[in-house]
Amino acid sequence: MSDRHRVVILGGGFGGLYAAQALKHAPLDITLIDRRNYHLFQPLLYQVATGSLSPGEIAAPIRGVLSTQKNTTVLLGEAVDIDPTAKQVSLKDGATVPYDSLIVATGSLVSYFGHEEWKSWAPGLKTVEDATMIRHKILLAFEAAERCTDTTERCTWLTFVIVGAGPTGVELAGALGEIANHTLKHDFRSINPKDARIIIVDGGKRALGAYPEDLSKSAEKQLHNLGTRIRTGVTVTNVDEDGVTLKTPDGEEHIATHTVIWAAGVAVTEFARTLAKKTSAETDRAGHIKVASDLTVPNFPDIYIVGDLALINDKAGKPLPGVAQVAMQTGSYTARAITRKVQGKPPLAPFSYFNKGDLAVIGRAAAVANVFGIHLHGFPAWLVWLFIHLMYIVEFQSRILVLIEWGFLYLTFNRGARLITGVAANKSIGKPEPLENLGE
Ligand SMILES: Cc1cc2nc3c(=O)[nH]c(=O)nc-3n(C[C@H](O)[C@H](O)[C@H](O)COP(=O)(O)OP(=O)(O)OC[C@H]3O[C@@H](n4cnc5c(N)ncnc54)[C@H](O)[C@@H]3O)c2cc1C
Repeated sequence: MSDRHRVVILGGGFGGLYAAQALKHAPLDITLIDRRNYHLFQPLLYQVATGSLSPGEIAAPIRGVLSTQKNTTVLLGEAVDIDPTAKQVSLKDGATVPYDSLIVATGSLVSYFGHEEWKSWAPGLKTVEDATMIRHKILLAFEAAERCTDTTERCTWLTFVIVGAGPTGVELAGALGEIANHTLKHDFRSINPKDARIIIVDGGKRALGAYPEDLSKSAEKQLHNLGTRIRTGVTVTNVDEDGVTLKTPDGEEHIATHTVIWAAGVAVTEFARTLAKKTSAETDRAGHIKVASDLTVPNFPDIYIVGDLALINDKAGKPLPGVAQVAMQTGSYTARAITRKVQGKPPLAPFSYFNKGDLAVIGRAAAVANVFGIHLHGFPAWLVWLFIHLMYIVEFQSRILVLIEWGFLYLTFNRGARLITGVAANKSIGKPEPLENLGE
């Protein structure tokens, strides 16, 4: 057995994978453990949910991505417990994995703010399974509307509500607008897909609340051009098979719909909660773990937290957002910090985030971007978005051909991945189905 320093990485998302890759040439023994055998490019999940891409086009087996990295072992398993004193992690199957340094990159989950019962009628978008379920839900709604003879019920089927006007909500609404206005426009006989009502609801004052105000306004205008309505300053008080109930400044309101998509709220995994408890780490309400300036858990210099799970404040004291850039930069920083520690070199300077900008795509040639402080709208922003996704998706696998093919389909409004498959394919049309019945 090797007596080299053992680094265990939990999670093969952006944070974990970037940490592992940054350790490629380090004289260490690295074990990356993920409960899934693939790395998922989450920023393109909504493309799967809206039928532009197939799941295989945005996921890559972690084992394959790291196959040339001889110092790294990949294990399929779910971390469920930790003993920070004995320095070992327990997996769900009972195995224990010892570490000298631990990098925790288990990401985040969708939160329903204590209303888990809403999940059955309002799927969130975090996993490949979520994306295919949402795809089924959207396609089945159009199919049900086509078969429906009752005008009110048809209108209910053609109403789509997205909860949350952050980047995911905006991207989903834009894609839905394109489906209704362009992709499906010749496909039905009884309905006109353009009659679809797409409504985003959000408790904040504006869409893309974390973006500069001019970009929010631009995004709202671009969404409006696609027939999408934005309702801000309203909160969801109930979701069930018949629709969404809202609390508005004018009182309670019900929107009749069978298709609600949840794009609001994040929580952390059960393992992350256990870790926080075992290390007495401070967390915010969602469970993000507050880290020291070197990304370690206070009083546990061998446990690093990276990516969405970490609560890191910027220079102004504002928490860094849960975006891929933060995950990649914290992942690489941690790798360098561990390498220096093992080499006996002085520690790195505290972690500092380099914000390259924010991007949200709304549709074909429609996007907003804030790149190094330069605000872009419409086509130029969309080109930047395309370029960045091309760069990053290629960085972890050779998918340039797929992306070119996808870009072509995107330009022609064609959404080839519009199949209703699996369990959902056997459902009777015209009856709202809970989430559990719509998987593959
Ligand atoms: C729909 C959507 C759209 C997004 N769009 C953008 C965008 O346009 N731009 C952007 O910058 N960011 C975007 N993000 C955010 C970005 O994807 C995340 O910030 C990033 O993925 C965080 O990386 P991470 O490594 O912390 O977590 P993740 O990428 O979520 O990876 C966590 C990994 O940990 C594994 N895991 C979890 N628990 C355990 C456990 N107990 N044991 C073992 N393994 C475990 C999971 O299987 C997963 O592979 C988007 C996110 C979503 C959901």
